[in-house]
Amino acid sequence: MHAGTTTGTTVPQRRVSRLANNYSPLPVRAESARGVWVTDASGSRFLDMLSAYSAMNFGHGNPTLLAAAHDQLAAMTLISRAYDHTGMERYAAALSDLAGKDMMVPMNTGAEAVETAVKVARKWAYEVKGVRENRAEIIVASGNFHGRTTTVVGFSDDPDARNGFGPFTPGFVTVAYGDAAALEAAITPDTAAVLLEPVQGEAGVIIPDAGYLPAVRRICDEQGVLFLADEIQSGLGRTGETFACDHVAVTPDVYILGKALGGGIVPASAVVADSDVLGVLRPGQHGSTFGGNPLACRIGTAVVDLLKTGEYQERARTLGALLRDELAPLVGRGLVSVRTIGLWAGIDVDPSLATGRTVCEELARRGVLAKDTHGSTVRLSPPLVIEPSELSWGVAQLADVLRALA
Ligand SMILES: *Cc1c(COP(=O)(O)O)cnc(C)c1O
Repeated sequence: MHAGTTTGTTVPQRRVSRLANNYSPLPVRAESARGVWVTDASGSRFLDMLSAYSAMNFGHGNPTLLAAAHDQLAAMTLISRAYDHTGMERYAAALSDLAGKDMMVPMNTGAEAVETAVKVARKWAYEVKGVRENRAEIIVASGNFHGRTTTVVGFSDDPDARNGFGPFTPGFVTVAYGDAAALEAAITPDTAAVLLEPVQGEAGVIIPDAGYLPAVRRICDEQGVLFLADEIQSGLGRTGETFACDHVAVTPDVYILGKALGGGIVPASAVVADSDVLGVLRPGQHGSTFGGNPLACRIGTAVVDLLKTGEYQERARTLGALLRDELAPLVGRGLVSVRTIGLWAGIDVDPSLATGRTVCEELARRGVLAKDTHGSTVRLSPPLVIEPSELSWGVAQLADVLRALA
């Protein structure tokens, strides 16, 4: 089955599977991973240019995070929120401080954190803003991706995500991403919040104009509407700042975090905000069996410690400049456009050449793992621990694939 090379090659996919068919993975079967390299059962190595959609920002098997996890595994892993544990307040303070907010709610997956933010925004609208009962509206953007729960897919405009899963939760209004005037026009006295990704990841690393988020901030302030920033993929170092909102000096009312927060070891997500917002939650009104478990708190605290040094943000900036410079010459040579922010790129493959999927399959054959999104777009988001030479090698494989397809 294997060509015997040490880098790349793929395995044929199984035809009959006991696994539900809700993914179509690339034909690679990983067995182990360290740093930026993934190894399959035959010993072939692949450069991970996806990082589990930025959940693996700090690299596979990051020694600091693994040590924290091992330590905590031996001490205590789950106690439930029925009791407190010694790591809980420390984690809450560390993450809240990182975001410059008063407090946080720990959850597990990103979609759960989005659901939490929606619940909090609605309750805030009724209790603080005075919106009429059951009338609260949340404005979302076209092209959004906020997860896969029924409420969340109900306000997606991706037919694959949405079709066949109704009826949906009411109370969401969609406006064009990047259009502050459209957003302002959609606000009514019942508007509780605006929910946005500061950079749209799943849509293909869509970076709004520099004026957009500041305009959203101003409009929300003027109209008494909460700004909920879904930084699940964009946050925690990926873009070269702790939060993508930092690039334009915007502070949202609510940060929604996930993915890298669990260090690539456990699912960990959180909603972080000031007490005038999160204070609406009282005992019994929201919760999660696993949210804030000791293992996740310990790892999350270690993740915050890594980010406090600024080292990873700096790496994302420096390596991101390299990625941008090395991708630029490929525009017109197989790529029609490239968008980058920090160590994060959306590249649009010339559709007359190949689909994004074909490019990813060819990359895998050459030992590079990346993921297509929406037809001809490929997203690149390697772990922030990648070395410049590894990054250059990965981009060289892309150039090679594009040459071969031309
Ligand atoms: C991945 C993602 C989510 C959902 O996170 P899950 O952990 O998969 O539920 C939500 N919002 C954004 C921006 C994401 O990238």
